[in-house]
Order: sequence, then C-alpha cells, then structure tokens
Amino acid sequence: MKIYDVMILGAGASGLMCAANLSKKKSVAILDVNDRVAKKLKISGGGKCNITNQSLSVDNFDGDSEYVSYALKRFSKDDLLKFLDRNRVELELRKGRYYFCQHSSDDIIEVLKKESKNSEIILNNEIISVAKDEEIFQIKTNKEIYKAKNVVVATGGKSFRTLGASEIGLEIAKSFNIQTKEFTPALVGLTVQKEQFWMRELSGLSCYVHIKVDDKVLREEMLFAHKGISGPAVLSASLYWKKGELSIDFLPDKNIIELVTGSKKLVSSVINLPKRLSKALLKAVDVDDKECKKLTKEDTVKLKLLHSYSFSPAGNFGFTKAEVSRGGVSLLELNKETLESKSIKGLYFIGEVADVTGELGGYNFQWAFSSAYICAKSLK
Ligand SMILES: Cc1cc2nc3c(=O)[nH]c(=O)nc-3n(C[C@H](O)[C@H](O)[C@H](O)COP(=O)(O)OP(=O)(O)OC[C@H]3O[C@@H](n4cnc5c(N)ncnc54)[C@H](O)[C@@H]3O)c2cc1C
Repeated sequence: MKIYDVMILGAGASGLMCAANLSKKKSVAILDVNDRVAKKLKISGGGKCNITNQSLSVDNFDGDSEYVSYALKRFSKDDLLKFLDRNRVELELRKGRYYFCQHSSDDIIEVLKKESKNSEIILNNEIISVAKDEEIFQIKTNKEIYKAKNVVVATGGKSFRTLGASEIGLEIAKSFNIQTKEFTPALVGLTVQKEQFWMRELSGLSCYVHIKVDDKVLREEMLFAHKGISGPAVLSASLYWKKGELSIDFLPDKNIIELVTGSKKLVSSVINLPKRLSKALLKAVDVDDKECKKLTKEDTVKLKLLHSYSFSPAGNFGFTKAEVSRGGVSLLELNKETLESKSIKGLYFIGEVADVTGELGGYNFQWAFSSAYICAKSLK
C-alpha cells in the first residue's frame, strides 16, 4: 500500500492552503467526507466569502496571542492579498475593512484547487480514526485505511454539520492524549431572557451599536431577531461572552443628555433611530416618551442607560447557526512555529480545529490560511 509523505485531513480552507504550499516533490493526499472541496468557504459571506480584514491584529482573536501573532507575521493579510492578486482573484473592500470576493467564493476555491493540483484529492471518505505504528500513521475512513508519514489535521470545527463538520479533529487529538478544549458555538446570535423579550418584537430592525463584553468593545451593526439578537456586533460579542452580563451602547458617538437638553421635541424624535426602536428603548429604560423639556432629573438618569444597557443573555442560537466553534486542540500542545504536536512527531493541527477563533470579519479565513502556511513550510 502507498505511503504518502503527507496526508491532509479535511479539504476545507486550511487543508487546501496547506496543500498549495507543500513542496511539489512530496506525495500528498487530501481526504474529505464531502463530495466537493471547501463547502464552507463556498457558502461563506453570502457566497462571496469575507477573506480577510484591513484592520487585523491579535486583538481580533480569541487564542494564545504569541501563536496568533507568529502565524500572522509569517503569512500576513498582505501576503494573502498578494497571493490572491497573483492569481487574479478580484476582491472588493466593504466598509473600508472587509475584503470580499468581487464575483464569487468559487474564484478562491478554483485558485486553491489549481495550486494544490499535485495533491490527490480523495472525497466521500469519512475519517474515523488515526493511529501511529512505529513511524507511520494509519488513517482509517469508512472506505479504506491510508498510510502516511505525516498527518495534518485540518478538519475544522463542529458548526454546520450539513457541510461536513465534525468533532473528529478533537477525537484524533484525544486518542493521542493531546489536550483539547470542547467546542462551543461562537459567532452566533444570542437568545434573551424574559426581561428582554421586547428585543424579539423588533425583529428585522438593525442599528449601529457598541457592545461591551468584559474588556472588549465590538463596534458594528446589531440586528434584532425573532429568537433574540444577532448581526455583526452580536456575533463578534458572542466570541467573548461566556455567561453573565454584556452592555450595549445604543447611541454610540452621541450624548443623550446633550440631545435632549433644550429640545422641544419628543424624546423619541431626538434619539434619531427608527421610531419603533426609539419607543421600545424608552420603554426598556422606563422613561415616558414626552417632550424633552418635561424630563425629570430621574428621567435623565434613566436615559443615560441607553449608553450602557446591561443584561444577561439566556444563551446562543447553537451549532446549527454558529459560524465557528470556539475551543479546539490546545495550542500549548503544539509547536508555535510549525503547529506540530510536541508529543507526536509528524502530527499537525491547523485552522479552526486549533484553539484559535477570530471575530467576525474575515479573521477566521486569515487564521486558516496563516496556520496552513506555517505548517506547510515546516513540512518542506
Ligand atoms: C455560514 C458560514 C459563513 C462563514 N463566513 C465566513 C467569512 O465570511 N469569513 C471568515 O473568515 N470565516 C467565515 N466562516 C468561518 C470559516 O468558514 C471557517 O473558520 C473556516 O472554513 C475554517 O477552515 P478550516 O479549514 O479549519 O475548516 P473547514 O473549512 O470547515 O474544513 C474542514 C473540512 O474537514 C472536513 N471534515 C470534517 N470532519 C471530517 C471527517 N470526519 N471526515 C472527513 N472529512 C471531514 C469537512 O468536510 C471540511 O471540508 C463562516 C462559517 C460559516 C459556517
């Protein structure tokens, strides 16, 4: 039976990028359960995948900053943009920050396929387990047993099972006694408790907010949803929210006291948000919608809460809606410069299966590609 130099488990963003950067002299195979490669990449960002972000630093990631910083330096946002430019993938910058494909995420998938064409792509194979016998790994799928000198686990997180997601990466790590953190849903909407059911009644409305979770402030749009709250600000906040309170500034960059002082208008009019939202917010902080000049001192104290509306969400929308999974293989178990296991020679973990999760905005693909790059270069 053939013994591959490298077998990559998972033909998603990180697996394909790893194959694309491996030496063409090596025999490489990529295994995936799906009938096509990169299914998540294809549907991401509404089919135009948000590939990276103009403003990118370790602060945009939940994960060991030394590891993240090393990978982002070795394969930076600019390296990724150059790689895509060289391959004539046209991108567009949205809101001055988010890089999306101008046409379709297929453009990136085609480039990754072209760049990894020396690798054998084996589809419709569900990985069941990995074992190591002497120096050789045995990869068992539902169809075959494959052999390889090196194994790169690029099986991603647990969210969106319909796209092939599984926990096999964690199971493989555990079978080698490598420490892991259980996956939990992240970049996901949050459900609310009874006291905040008023938010659900605003379903479909959105507004620009600042959300504070611990020492993180997320500045983006928030969407009121049928099940709770969602939208970019909430999705990123969900990465840092574990349990307990978060706080929303519904009038960022404004001062509610300045807005109401000296005005003859109704409070809901000076707030300058959609009327239905202004009225609901006033109700939430227990202030009647009256003429600003009739506001009492007590009212103005309550109005200030619009800058820091604090509450404890009930939970989140779960793995079926989560864009990523927080947790994964503990970075402390991996070599920072290669992402190879410190205890099992030849076993690597890259992309979402490693314990690094980015905020919403292209950070997760950037991590997938940066981590894949350093692993591939070390395998040279
Ligand atoms: C709806 C949605 C939208 C998203 N949008 C964005 C975005 O715009 N920007 C961004 O940065 N991130 C986005 N993400 C997150 C991003 O897709 C992931 O972080 C990224 O794909 C991770 O890359 P990966 O290679 O680690 O894993 P994946 O790309 O998920 O690849 C893992 C591969 O492993 C395969 N696999 C898993 N288990 C097995 C098994 N047992 N046997 C065989 N094969 C297996 C899977 O089929 C899959 O092909 C989005 C995610 C979702 C769900």
